Amino acid sequence: LNAHIGFVGLGNMGMKMVQNLVKKGESLVVFDTQPEVLSSLKNSSKVTIAETVSDLAKHTSHIITMLPNNDSVWGVYTNPDGILKNCTKENATFIDCSTVDPILAQKIWQLSQEKNHSFFDAPVSGGVVGAEAGTLTFMVGGSETIPKDVESLLLKMGARVISCGKSGTGQAAKLCNNMLLGATMVALAETMNMGIKFGLDAKVLASIINSSSGRCWSSDVNQPVPNILETAPSTRNYQGGFKTNLLIKDMKLALALAEKTGSSVTLAKRALEIYNSAANEQQIGELDFSAIYKVISNLENE
Ligand code: NAD
Repeated sequence: LNAHIGFVGLGNMGMKMVQNLVKKGESLVVFDTQPEVLSSLKNSSKVTIAETVSDLAKHTSHIITMLPNNDSVWGVYTNPDGILKNCTKENATFIDCSTVDPILAQKIWQLSQEKNHSFFDAPVSGGVVGAEAGTLTFMVGGSETIPKDVESLLLKMGARVISCGKSGTGQAAKLCNNMLLGATMVALAETMNMGIKFGLDAKVLASIINSSSGRCWSSDVNQPVPNILETAPSTRNYQGGFKTNLLIKDMKLALALAEKTGSSVTLAKRALEIYNSAANEQQIGELDFSAIYKVISNLENE
């Protein structure tokens, strides 16, 4: 185990990020609780598979985590066999790229500071496609300026590294964006549905919105009405995009943040209810979140 970089959580995103680090010449120690996801790395001369997180933590000075949720991130950092209790290097650097609660990030930052280590929250946008292409955007909280070693490591997996400020601000930025994304998609799906029901041509309506003040990413990149945009998930039965279940997870985190900050978020609350009931009753949880259009327009009943 002679690499200085450790990587924990090699799922849909993490595996692509590791592949890019390897392409850029880095050697890594990796760990995932599901050993089968690591099988493609077994013969790599650049990658060592650790048996446990503690093993990985003992031998690396820069550790990146890319995990599903609050519980897994908290556990991997704070369990008795976790990163904080087992890191033997001085002034180690931890970077969590998962999307989790900003307050949780601040707690891990505090625990890291107490041991003279650095912790950065660095959630990403760009999805699996961006992870594979190495074009992710990292939103980084943890210090006013991002140290050069952290920035250059992140730039091996992405195209942009944006400094957000104190610990937790990277996560807060990510949640703000995804809360807005969730709400605009519902608004767009309702808008397209109403126009089409009146008799407007779907393509004409989309092109008017895309060149008018209603324009948004959901409309011009992730159009929810099938067969308007060839590259949109809606055109391939809502497969291969940003899963509704993941959006629901992020919107729940955003609403928790709204409560903690005493912020009014009526639209996002309603949007989350709409996604939740569509995921439960119309099984769109594993489909791209633009499948909310299917539910709103009752396509399945026609
Ligand atoms: P995933 O479920 O595909 O991968 C998570 C990996 O972590 C799995 O391989 C799992 O086995 C492993 N894991 C779980 N608990 C573990 C533990 N305790 N120790 C070690 N490994 C553990 O998820 P993903 O799609 O790669 O997403 C990862 C994070 O990135 C999430 O927080 C998600 O919200 C965020 N994110 C995902 C996307 C996307 O499009 N998939 C986009 C932006 C952000």
